[in-house]
Amino acid sequence: MAEATKKRALITGITGQDGGHLAALLHEKGYEIFAIIRGQHNPRREATEAEYPYVTLIEADLGDQSSLIRAMQTAKPDEVYNLGAISHVGYSFKDPMLTADITGKGVLNMLEAIRLTDPENKVRFYQASTSEMYGGLDYNRPEKGYTEESAFHPRSPYGVAKLYGYWITKNYRESYDMFAVSGILFNHEGERRGVEFVTRKITNAVARIKLGLQTHIELGDLWPQRDWGYAGDYVEGMWLMLQQDEPKDYVLATGETHSIEEFLTLAFKEIGIDDWKPYVKQNPAFMRPAEVDLLLGDPTKAEKELGWKRKVDFPGLVKLMVEHDLAIESTKV
Ligand code: GDP
Repeated sequence: MAEATKKRALITGITGQDGGHLAALLHEKGYEIFAIIRGQHNPRREATEAEYPYVTLIEADLGDQSSLIRAMQTAKPDEVYNLGAISHVGYSFKDPMLTADITGKGVLNMLEAIRLTDPENKVRFYQASTSEMYGGLDYNRPEKGYTEESAFHPRSPYGVAKLYGYWITKNYRESYDMFAVSGILFNHEGERRGVEFVTRKITNAVARIKLGLQTHIELGDLWPQRDWGYAGDYVEGMWLMLQQDEPKDYVLATGETHSIEEFLTLAFKEIGIDDWKPYVKQNPAFMRPAEVDLLLGDPTKAEKELGWKRKVDFPGLVKLMVEHDLAIESTKV
């Protein structure tokens, strides 16, 4: 892409899993990339600069609207990807207020910052919405999986805050004719996932057990089921949503659901262990006040209209994550 026509993107959530995958994708596509990072002396700043040298970091906070206006004025983006959030379901029960402020109202702060700095209404906005908005209860769960039309019933302060973000995005689209869309993404994992999430916690522990660095893993409930895809596939879908003629919301999912126990079984198989029971202890500290039983998404609309399809399947995802953790952890032996 010629320098003069380089597209500009502003990302919130650069230190998170999706921010990293998206920055890498947009860099490949020739974008000039800006990202906000919180506060002075952020301990993650140096690592972020080292990992994404092609990203210009701007100090701003989703909780501080004036800082977002300044970020918009500096970045002058064509596209804004709002991936920043207090993003852990379990943690949101411990800090529901902060989750509401950042995961919920932070979306409004960003949308207002765009509206106030973009009088010609040219900026395209992506909101990271989530399958946690559906809640996974029997009564509203379609057999083939949740679609863009399914009813919501969030089961955590995180899910409730994300639902606000979803609706305010729709409201700004309808009220101000903004190109503002939500991707309703089912769980997506990978080598950039934090160990506070169950998949990475498992693959990291499995690698450490194999290398003799750890004896067992403590987990909560193993029966909940999730529609797990690979994050690298999902950021491609985010980008596609902003390249369409019309702003619309889309579900991104694999269309398959698997229990944590299945994930655990495959992960241990990768290191040659068939019976994982001696290595796993249940700890109630990792159980939640309300649980999402089963998530299954129906990605038909995204597949038809965006031409999107996940490339990495469930066994492929487990394998990729275990191999990555084995490579990292073996440097510690
Ligand atoms: P979520 O789907 O966004 O909540 O992603 P998580 O990876 O945090 O949790 C997925 C499922 O794993 C939830 O049903 C959790 O209750 C369950 N789970 C069981 N043990 C653990 C654990 O030790 N850590 C986490 N994070 N989740 C666990």
